[in-house]
Amino acid sequence: MKSLFKNQDRHPQWQGTPAADWRDWRWQMRHSLKTLEQFSRLYNMSDEETLGFSVHEQFQVRTTPYYASLVNVADPEDPIRKIFMPHAAELVSAYQEMEDPLAEEINAKTPRLIHRYADRVLFLVTDVCGVYCRFCTRKHFTGSNEAMVSGKDYETSLEYIRQHPGIREVLLSGGDPLTVSNTQLEKVLKDLRDIEHVEIIRIGSRMPVVNPMRLTPELGRILRKYAPVFLMSHFSHPRELTTDAVQGLAHLIDCGIPVFNQMVLLNGVNNHPALIQALSRRLLYARVKPYYMFQCDPSKGTDHLRTSVDHSLEIQRELWGHLSGLAMPSLALDLPGGGGKVGLVPNFETGSSENRRSFRGFDGVEADYISPPMSLMKVPSDVMVYEKEWFNLKNAKTAFHSSGLPEAAETGASAEAASTL
Ligand code: SF4
Repeated sequence: MKSLFKNQDRHPQWQGTPAADWRDWRWQMRHSLKTLEQFSRLYNMSDEETLGFSVHEQFQVRTTPYYASLVNVADPEDPIRKIFMPHAAELVSAYQEMEDPLAEEINAKTPRLIHRYADRVLFLVTDVCGVYCRFCTRKHFTGSNEAMVSGKDYETSLEYIRQHPGIREVLLSGGDPLTVSNTQLEKVLKDLRDIEHVEIIRIGSRMPVVNPMRLTPELGRILRKYAPVFLMSHFSHPRELTTDAVQGLAHLIDCGIPVFNQMVLLNGVNNHPALIQALSRRLLYARVKPYYMFQCDPSKGTDHLRTSVDHSLEIQRELWGHLSGLAMPSLALDLPGGGGKVGLVPNFETGSSENRRSFRGFDGVEADYISPPMSLMKVPSDVMVYEKEWFNLKNAKTAFHSSGLPEAAETGASAEAASTL
């Protein structure tokens, strides 16, 4: 196990920092690097990177000393450096760039609550992150010094969730929800748990990547109190899985918190099957399920970091058959403009006729699959037990999209169905 994960060396700048400080997540946040001058003390800055700091006004720059130390200073093209270091290429718009690629502002029910799918909401609890990723989808919100949601925005967001019984899942996002204190986080979790129809709470965070000291046994105990709580980690490169990160993840997993990983395919950072398999195998060994591999959203300043869809599919095809199903992330793309996710799957089909479908497998083996006719398909005998629940979910979605409001989810029938789950 140990050979899969490496200890992380500190950059010489922090060699003398006492271990108690280095291992304190608040110290890491307080000593975050934000300016060109600070980065120049660590690395030889290229002209493009220096120029990249002129986008600072539009999208902040920030990383922790821990994450900055993961960079190989001898490699000017270091992949981890590209994740947080601004670059002149951000100033060039060549293909597709959008202010709000997922159209979240259209679906915002309060300044902090986005309701795009009938049964789920996104609750932006803070706009602060431990790192400002250059590929961020939510640049229009993240890093605007709005900090922890409070007062009216918090209350109206909670009230909206209370008033909509069709909402079964709340995804805490931002910004990064794990940048807030345990006390603040626990208040949010408790308030959500007090709403009877909220079944699942998810926390999306890059703190396990950039500040794994945040994942303490105490945090694990807090999350366990409000279970089921899922952590969605965002590891994008195998070198991010240090022994510190794996140890932090274990603190939560040992408390029964399931961890799923969502990564973004990035040009020059991780766009090779060798890297993805290394990341996925290590994640699985650390008991984290590789969940999604996303096509990068076309937010502003990301053209140079995005992969082509064909390239992404090629990577996925290469992984097929070489990586166990457990380690395989699903490739998906969020439709620009807020149309939701679509799955991207390599095409293994070579032809079809009537009920015969022909395929060529990952290593070239060809075979036909001959199906029984559709006329023989039967409905399971106990389907009526689940049908009402299913129709309510589907109707809620239809009404949600046609009116912009999830009215059907709030009918007595829906509430009743929710209570039978
Ligand atoms: S941590 Fe997430 S929200 Fe924050 S900048 Fe990175 S991608 Fe954006």
